Amino acid sequence: MHKYGDCSFCGGEVKDERVELDYRYKGELYIFREVPAGVCQQCGEKYLTAKVAREIERRIQTKGKWDKTIPIPVDVFPERVTV
Ligand SMILES: [Zn+2]
Repeated sequence: MHKYGDCSFCGGEVKDERVELDYRYKGELYIFREVPAGVCQQCGEKYLTAKVAREIERRIQTKGKWDKTIPIPVDVFPERVTV
């Protein structure tokens, strides 16, 4: 088991979990499921080890057939919507 240490945002406890992850790579969005990662029990921030991050990029570069491809709805906010 990897020791993640406390969350660098809120100081909460980070635990080993398997998570779903959105990952952007060269302008494309990928979704990985069941990824081993640290999750802050307080704020939900996810932490990847360098090894897992490398594995994700390796899989993007080498995977021929993805388990699933889903359409993602995209919306561009109109300029009249302001803070
Ligand atoms: Zn946190």
